[in-house]
Amino acid sequence: MRIPLSAPEIHESDIEAVCRVLRTPHLSLGPKLEEFEMSIASYTGAPDAVAVSSGTSGLHLCIRALGIGAGDEVLVPSFTFIAAANAIRYERAQPVFVDIEANSLNIDPEKIEAAITSRTRAIMVVHTFGCPAEMSSILEIAHAHGLRIIEDACEAIGAEYDGQKAGTLGDAGVFAFYPNKQITTGEGGAIVTRDLKLAARLRTLRNQGRNSSNDWFDCSELGYNYRLSEMNCALGVEQMKRIDTVLARREAVARSYHSRLSVNPNLVLPELSMPRRRISWFVYVLRLSSRFDRGHRDRIWQEMRSRGIACGRYFAPIHLQPIYRADAAVAGREDLCNTEAIADHVLALPFFNQITESQIDEVCATLQEIVA
Ligand SMILES: *Cc1c(COP(=O)(O)O)cnc(C)c1O
Repeated sequence: MRIPLSAPEIHESDIEAVCRVLRTPHLSLGPKLEEFEMSIASYTGAPDAVAVSSGTSGLHLCIRALGIGAGDEVLVPSFTFIAAANAIRYERAQPVFVDIEANSLNIDPEKIEAAITSRTRAIMVVHTFGCPAEMSSILEIAHAHGLRIIEDACEAIGAEYDGQKAGTLGDAGVFAFYPNKQITTGEGGAIVTRDLKLAARLRTLRNQGRNSSNDWFDCSELGYNYRLSEMNCALGVEQMKRIDTVLARREAVARSYHSRLSVNPNLVLPELSMPRRRISWFVYVLRLSSRFDRGHRDRIWQEMRSRGIACGRYFAPIHLQPIYRADAAVAGREDLCNTEAIADHVLALPFFNQITESQIDEVCATLQEIVA
């Protein structure tokens, strides 16, 4: 692809920081881990942060550490990355899918209560594409029903709701640092929480169940190897130093797309701002108008690709994926109307820090020509 869908921004100073680690004897569980965790905690305002090997492992540890297991239900949107629901299933709990709002593409607070049963334990709130969910209503519902809140903030580092950073409003919040995210550690993730006991438990679970005071082989419970290496952490420390610049640049790219495409009646663009929120731009996902169907969208996606411009079609609803269709509790859902209708019309445009104005021009001109 001449214009990729996403691209990490790696500076010479990032490379040097990773190389410096390699000249030390500390390649795991060393000083860079502590430094990275402190930078995430201080940036988000969370009392503690626990770095892990991926966003997915972070979500899994939250489910595990909150004691959610077989027979329990967790509410989650279907219009998201499959990792959110998989993390629930790793502990043999049941994901219960809730439809989304058409404007924010996040879980619809008005549809949450109807999905609550006596087995519901938690809501996994996803801040889709970096736009925070309607947290005040969601927290109110959770409080009224005694439910835990796990924030999947994997797409939303730096986003805010009522001036508070995404990830810090619930019981625990998870960030991810795969190369297509706002900042990257190659692979990696981090969990933030204000519950210091929970944080200690997460540190035990990410390291084979070993208590920090224990001998290496003295494990008190079944844990995992979800550690993040010192090389990854060193990259994360460097990337976090630039987070404000990165988020400002991504917002500028979103505005550039918006100003070029907003006159086109065939396109429904993402909102540039929403009340009470600061958006952290993860991707730029527009929708084709309702005159189009999924077949049109797929042909537009294909035609863009054939001209060297990579586009995305996310998300494909989780409840329609083969591995979830086989789940009796998921089959035959007919109420996820927004999820299914929106998923057929989405198109993600190339979106990364270093995209140029002339590349944005080319993407917009090509898209508008094909759509016409
Ligand atoms: C990226 C992402 C994750 C985690 O991804 P990893 O590849 O495991 O780091 C989880 N949920 C959502 C919504 C994501 O976008």
